[in-house]
Amino acid sequence: MPTYCVNKNAQSNGDHEVHDLTFGACNRLPDYGNRLDLGYHPNCQSAVRQAKITYWKSNGCWYCCPACNTG
Ligand SMILES: [Zn+2]
Repeated sequence: MPTYCVNKNAQSNGDHEVHDLTFGACNRLPDYGNRLDLGYHPNCQSAVRQAKITYWKSNGCWYCCPACNTG
């Protein structure tokens, strides 16, 4: 089961991007200091729900979580 993180810094549109931390899954990961660990999740939908507890405007990274990216 992959581990996920959410970027502590919002994108220009206000979204906090959720990323899959599986090695090689994403090459757009935030810097270590900007990652809030979300722990293990069976899928990105679950990870985004967890991220929204902290950042209501969270969204899947278009690169590693395209199924959870709502644009
Ligand atoms: Zn990503």
